[in-house]
Amino acid sequence: MNIQDFTFPGLPTRVVFGRGRLADLPAELERLGICKAVLLTTPEQAGMVDTVGARAQGRIVGDYTGAQMHTPTDVTDAAETEMKRLGADGLLSVGGGSTTGLGKALALRSGLPHLSVPTTYAGSEMTDILGELADGRKTTRRSPTIRPQTVIYDAALTDTLPAELSAVSGLNAMAHAVEALYAVDGNPVVSLMARDGLAAMARGLPDILSGRDPETARNTALYGAWLCGACLGAVSMALHHKVCHVLGGSFELHHARTHAVVLPHATAYNAPAAPEAMHAIAHALGTTSPARGLQTLAQELGAPLSLAELGMPEEGIETAVDQIFANEYPNPRPLNRDAIHQMIRAAWAGTPISD
Ligand code: NAD
Repeated sequence: MNIQDFTFPGLPTRVVFGRGRLADLPAELERLGICKAVLLTTPEQAGMVDTVGARAQGRIVGDYTGAQMHTPTDVTDAAETEMKRLGADGLLSVGGGSTTGLGKALALRSGLPHLSVPTTYAGSEMTDILGELADGRKTTRRSPTIRPQTVIYDAALTDTLPAELSAVSGLNAMAHAVEALYAVDGNPVVSLMARDGLAAMARGLPDILSGRDPETARNTALYGAWLCGACLGAVSMALHHKVCHVLGGSFELHHARTHAVVLPHATAYNAPAAPEAMHAIAHALGTTSPARGLQTLAQELGAPLSLAELGMPEEGIETAVDQIFANEYPNPRPLNRDAIHQMIRAAWAGTPISD
């Protein structure tokens, strides 16, 4: 084993993991000095106001249930007004990446502490990254203030996540681990987390879909989501995340479904240039071909396989390629315009991977 030089930045977020651990909420809020939290959810998960409110022992002062995908700044403006009106001294986000994003945006504006309770596998709770939508444009920024201080992972809150969303959200998480394995600033600790995260997802997701031992399956997938999210928060992502960012922003494609479709194709593109990462992915999936293994898993999970079925127009392929080349970023295999064009076309058509 040849260990290269590396920098390990540490793991800054406190994590409380386990089915039923939402019971720790009052103690964890107290630990952050939060007596008057504003509870954030999407409209679809407004029922959490009662579920979570009942566990908070009076530490929630009010709620804002208007979180939306891509964190539109006008939604953040409205939530900020409500947060100030309530005199909140902390943020409590309960939901998927959209709700976590609102919590992060408010933390950045106010400096208030943020406790996140994720209910999907997106992984945003483990990162210092905030994507926001303003005037039809999606921008991304990073800051230590954006990262939630504490995360409670309670798989009981994921039991209601529909099978199809569980599948694509899980594949979204796996994309973080795949890219962490060949990240330009990768390190051995993050690689350990990536390998275990991939293996946990590859075990948990099929069992969620088949309904076999659902509690264990949900716990395993949420554990995998934490590890994969921690990878996203610790090292730089590459081609796959760039492509998904471009496609999501340009064609308003569904976040997790886009990741699910693109991941096998981006992995196939990078395979020749990242043999160690490919070996680790294949091992975690119990397959010989990492890219084909990811596509087979997506197929078994009933996830979409083509960008066309997500609503991307064929003539958008050229526009997407232009944007992928608009600025430079590190990627294990150099970006070749014809090869990237081919890759996007294959993802658009849902071409089976044959390596
Ligand atoms: P989401 O948060 O938009 O959730 C999708 C839908 O599922 C919503 O209606 C939500 O209320 C519902 N839902 C969530 N959990 C549920 C549950 N347990 N049971 C029933 N319904 C549930 O989707 P997402 O994929 O989690 O997040 C996508 C967003 O997160 C995007 O805006 C993306 O850009 C962002 N994101 C950001 C980062 C980051 O590090 N900044 C990382 C990943 C994703």
